[in-house]
Amino acid sequence: MRYWSCEPRRSALLTVGRLAVTAVLSVDWAIAMPAQAAAGATEAQQQKWVRQAAADLPPRALATLQRIAGADRRLLAVRAYLRAGSSLDERWSWSQQQLDSYPTTAEAKLAAADIDAVIAAFSAANPGFTLGVNRLPRSLEVQIAHWNENRSVGITAAALVAALERQFSAAAGAPDAAVRSALIQWQPPVAAALAAPGLSAHGQARAFDFQVERDGKVIAGIESASARQRWDAAGWTRKLRAAVASAGNRFAGPLASPYEPWHYAWIAP
Ligand SMILES: [Zn+2]
Repeated sequence: MRYWSCEPRRSALLTVGRLAVTAVLSVDWAIAMPAQAAAGATEAQQQKWVRQAAADLPPRALATLQRIAGADRRLLAVRAYLRAGSSLDERWSWSQQQLDSYPTTAEAKLAAADIDAVIAAFSAANPGFTLGVNRLPRSLEVQIAHWNENRSVGITAAALVAALERQFSAAAGAPDAAVRSALIQWQPPVAAALAAPGLSAHGQARAFDFQVERDGKVIAGIESASARQRWDAAGWTRKLRAAVASAGNRFAGPLASPYEPWHYAWIAP
């Protein structure tokens, strides 16, 4: 099995049309509450912060929050949505219809040619090794599933909750604007390994992850823990960078924060 799980899932749930959004928004927030609450601020207190800070977010962001497990992870997503501000809509992951039509677009063909060039350059420079890459955009559905189970997201979300507790502890109730600005201004000690659901560059095929393979076996995969040892120390970071550089100027990277030597942005012309 490959390390990535970016394959778009063809699910009816993906179609978040106007009707679906309306239906989701009318459901009580409580349905998404997990059994365990983080230490410190109760789940109810965290959810109150979510509600306060998310009040003015666009419907697509609110609908996505409903599908995030745990108020701490929802808070971290709200922070990302607030910080995205007016760019949220243009950055938002493609609809199922856009995902379906992507492979036939001129942009997809251009990206495919660029990726092919990286793969060819890499193989020529590193006999016996090949690059694997997921060429399809990552659906919102898959991004939500990753966000809900990713360990680094949980750690960063817990740090955010702790910071809010320090700021608002014992307060009878912080004003909405104070909660919002606390979220926007907070800087994580370590960036979460994932972009908030809806805001991943993979959601619009604006980024690609490469992994090094040999005889079908993954030598350097797309796992955060492998970045220093299996990529940097083994020389693959440098070798992938060289292959990418030889394939034209539409790739930029690798991603610096969080550090992902396999992740390159692709800039559409
Ligand atoms: Zn990536």
